[in-house]
Amino acid sequence: MTLLLVDNLQKRFGGVTAAKNVSFQLAPGELLAIIGPNGAGKSTTFNMVGGQLKPDLGRVVLDGEDVTGQPPRMVWRKGVGRTFQIAQTFVSMSVAENVQMALISHRNETRSLTANAHSLHRDEAIGFLDRVGMADMAERPVSELAYGDVKRVELAIALASNPKLLLMDEPTAGMAPKERAQLMELTASIARKHKIGVLFTEHDMDAVFAHSDRILVLVRGEIIAEGTPDEVRSNAQVKQVYLGE
Ligand code: ADP
Ligand code: MG
Repeated sequence: MTLLLVDNLQKRFGGVTAAKNVSFQLAPGELLAIIGPNGAGKSTTFNMVGGQLKPDLGRVVLDGEDVTGQPPRMVWRKGVGRTFQIAQTFVSMSVAENVQMALISHRNETRSLTANAHSLHRDEAIGFLDRVGMADMAERPVSELAYGDVKRVELAIALASNPKLLLMDEPTAGMAPKERAQLMELTASIARKHKIGVLFTEHDMDAVFAHSDRILVLVRGEIIAEGTPDEVRSNAQVKQVYLGE
């Protein structure tokens, strides 16, 4: 079963071909990592899937529906959640309120914001916080949290839109190694349990090899290798071009 089909995507910026013939598939509950040197086209590929960039060529098909070139909000409504390299939260609000805001926003309930935002979807928000182990910190303002905890809140916010697919752009950037491993383990267990597909980019190769089912290696906009962590690790071309061995 295919959750995400990316077919022959291409994107040029002036004379630079940032992505070329990029094709891959992702199944529900599967963790797929995109790795590659700086400038390889990882973010470009990500942004074409999330709707932030329109491809010049190719298709993005989500759960059988062609969503190519649709705006980010539309893609989000259709089940593509996203976290960013820098956590995106409302720092003056509490942990629970941040998740409540996500629920309100996803349901387009902007009118109810002023009325009773404090109680709206509260239990549901706590449920999502529970999934990431943050229910006991529901009342804390985000500004008081350690960075690793903010990242977990961000994951809860992304989960609140009930995504089929989660796009995670360097989810562990700026975190200590131990926290990184914990966040990746948490993400992987939630993804498998709830059958959410995860497409992620990551600099930390230990995290990539430990927590992905498959890896795509992108170099200068093209996929040079694809396979399980073991296959990619032992691929001669990958070692030469990317891992520098
Ligand atoms: P990565 O995320 O793998 O580091 P990117 O997808 O950000 O790589 O970039 C791929 C290539 O496309 C790079 O050469 C980059 O300079 C270029 N590029 C990316 N975004 C833009 C843009 N908005 N305008 C011009 N060039 C861009
Ligand atoms: Mg990038």
